[in-house]
Amino acid sequence: MIDSSFLQNKKAVYYTLGCKLNFAETSTIGKALKAVGVHTVQEGEKADICIINTCSVTEMADKKCRQIIHRLVKEHPSAFVVVTGCYAQLKPDDVMAIDGVDLVLGAEQKGDLINYLLKMDEFSCGKAVTTPAKNIRKFVPSCSRGDRTRYFLKVQDGCDYFCSYCTIPFARGRSRNGSIADLVHQARQVAEEGGKEIVLTGVNIGDFGKTTGESLLSLLKQLDEVEGIERYRISSIEPDLLTDEIIAFVSQSRHFMPHFHIPLQSGSDAVLKLMRRRYDTNLFAEKIKRIKELMPDAFIGVDVIVGTRGETSEYFEQTYCFLKGLPVSQLHVFSYSERPGTQALKIDYIVPQEIKHERSQRLLALSEEKTKAFYEKYEGKNAIVLVEHAKPGALMHGFTANYIRVELDCNTMSLDNQLVCVKLGAFNGDRTALKAVIMDK
Ligand code: SF4
Repeated sequence: MIDSSFLQNKKAVYYTLGCKLNFAETSTIGKALKAVGVHTVQEGEKADICIINTCSVTEMADKKCRQIIHRLVKEHPSAFVVVTGCYAQLKPDDVMAIDGVDLVLGAEQKGDLINYLLKMDEFSCGKAVTTPAKNIRKFVPSCSRGDRTRYFLKVQDGCDYFCSYCTIPFARGRSRNGSIADLVHQARQVAEEGGKEIVLTGVNIGDFGKTTGESLLSLLKQLDEVEGIERYRISSIEPDLLTDEIIAFVSQSRHFMPHFHIPLQSGSDAVLKLMRRRYDTNLFAEKIKRIKELMPDAFIGVDVIVGTRGETSEYFEQTYCFLKGLPVSQLHVFSYSERPGTQALKIDYIVPQEIKHERSQRLLALSEEKTKAFYEKYEGKNAIVLVEHAKPGALMHGFTANYIRVELDCNTMSLDNQLVCVKLGAFNGDRTALKAVIMDK
């Protein structure tokens, strides 16, 4: 048994960049350190340990990671600085070269962070410990808790898809997942803690079951039976893995919300081929049609990348027209970012930065139109909202089942994490939510 008393009463600061998965993992690391007596620093306190969980989805993300590392090293000069996450896995030497970094841990080592901390003397001159992506196999269970009303439960990690523009398979390794039994157990723990909403998160959630021989549909069915959890959301699912059975199950389930987030990436079949995506626009449109047939009120968010190599203006117009014709609620628009080691770099046709910007502006405007139209359909209607924690004096917010953001005209702490019936009104001042009044039960 490793003696962890050495960590007793140490103070730690945590910083997370990137996706829900990273937040779940940092939260789990924080919980494990708390269990061995490590406190989270309060405002203005100096930390003994600094944990930075990084992202590397774009070049900008890498730059942001470096800025944050420099800033935290400066703010906590005597801290032992550990950098982990996707940027650490992809560029360990670059991270190690940053002044003040003591330890760089790759994706396979992230789950063992405590054990590395207990040997921190061995790393006095700094060390990077990573495993080649093709050998990353460990699934580290994670669930964010305590810092948000909604819990992020990690159900799957890694990806075997190798889309031509993406580095995530190189940063997170092969597709793998937790067992249904363990994930149901974690959901029960969330219910025991009073949690009401769980967001299932992963890299390629639809690929759940690869390492346990189980299926995503079975997982959803068993989670739906867990007493106390009122709401589940699937954070994102590939269109080719969103089966009609899953759509039908969500429409009939007790607790899975009518809310889908589906990466399209391009509305041009030619570009989808260049991206090495595993579906075409017909399949995508079919999925949207199926969802709307069974759940007309469903909120559908769609990821789209503009300016990938090979995206001519003709292909972009195809994307624009395809999205304009789809009954979806919101677009998440990303500008293509060159990533080292990806197949996309072999495509000669490069889209200039200013054209990328123009295209993303057009899709962002289209997204605003779609979200406005979706929200306005519910003005004057009643809805159930899960009220989220708010700072003292701040207005309270929450989401309806179909993911409409709602602003309440009050700040009553007793409503925190409560499901309340509201009457939806018009948009609030900055058009980020519908105003709502609480209906008497
Ligand atoms: S499915 Fe494609 S885009 Fe998504 S993580 Fe895997 S390789 Fe990347």
